[in-house]
Amino acid sequence: MQSRNTRQKEAIRTAFMTEGRPLSPEETLSYAQEQVEGISIATIYRNISSLVEERWLTPVSIPGESARYEIAGKGHHHHFRCNQCGKVFEMPGCSLNGKPKLPRGFRATSHEFFIFGVCSECK
Ligand SMILES: [Zn+2]
Ligand SMILES: [Zn+2]
Repeated sequence: MQSRNTRQKEAIRTAFMTEGRPLSPEETLSYAQEQVEGISIATIYRNISSLVEERWLTPVSIPGESARYEIAGKGHHHHFRCNQCGKVFEMPGCSLNGKPKLPRGFRATSHEFFIFGVCSECK
């Protein structure tokens, strides 16, 4: 018989695996509540930070947005945020074609960008 703590953590992992996109703690809560009755936002925050420590989750920061989290260890990719429902989606791979023109003598080591728009459900 699994302890309540184990079941809570499992429910949180399942939420991320099932959704397959970055989730905010509030979104995680609504999925986890379907599996574990009475799970609280404090429990979600505690488990998310322990999953980040274990490197199972990684934070996704989007300018001007509260933090989202996604399963760690994925290759380089970018994110799409729907302006209507606020959901964040993963865009696999990198669509940054060609090299941006950098000032002479500069060398890029990484890049980041986000796409904002309307998802297919909200369209
Ligand atoms: Zn949407
Ligand atoms: Zn890229």
